[in-house]
Amino acid sequence: MPARTDSFDLGRLRLTSGEGRRLVLEVGLDPLQFGGETYAITPEAVAATLDISRTTHNGFALRLRFDASLRGPCMRCLEPARPAVCVDSREVDQPGDVEELRSPYVEDEVLDLRGWARDALALALPVQLLCRADCAGLCPTCGIDLNAAGPDHAHEREPDPRWAKLGELKFD
Ligand SMILES: [Zn+2]
Ligand SMILES: [Zn+2]
Repeated sequence: MPARTDSFDLGRLRLTSGEGRRLVLEVGLDPLQFGGETYAITPEAVAATLDISRTTHNGFALRLRFDASLRGPCMRCLEPARPAVCVDSREVDQPGDVEELRSPYVEDEVLDLRGWARDALALALPVQLLCRADCAGLCPTCGIDLNAAGPDHAHEREPDPRWAKLGELKFD
């Protein structure tokens, strides 16, 4: 594993227009807030693949890829979960007058790798973080973990209170 890289000097590569480079860099990942819970990231540092291409007019086209897994409570059953996330993110930084072509992660040809990795991971999260895709969750009536209770877990249906009221009516 190479030394940890929080920021990377793109200019140092001295790429000419159209030239590219693929690097594997170790990037540190901070714990993530999601759905009111804190999720630790494992591993805390990942080997990320960074593709760098020099565009014409002194810009950069960048692609960042890595896999990580989160550790925290399942959003359905609250048991420990370790959902895996694949990150594949692209950025363009093209100096000039067009603000949309500037990357928020590139400043003076130095890439904020840690900041980009953090945001890209947050964007790659699934809608729900689950212990497994088909987690059965908790019983809405008694709160028991339905993964453990099994598919036969059920409750007597409460009689509809309107029927009880009907029963009290007297028909003469
Ligand atoms: Zn679950
Ligand atoms: Zn129940």
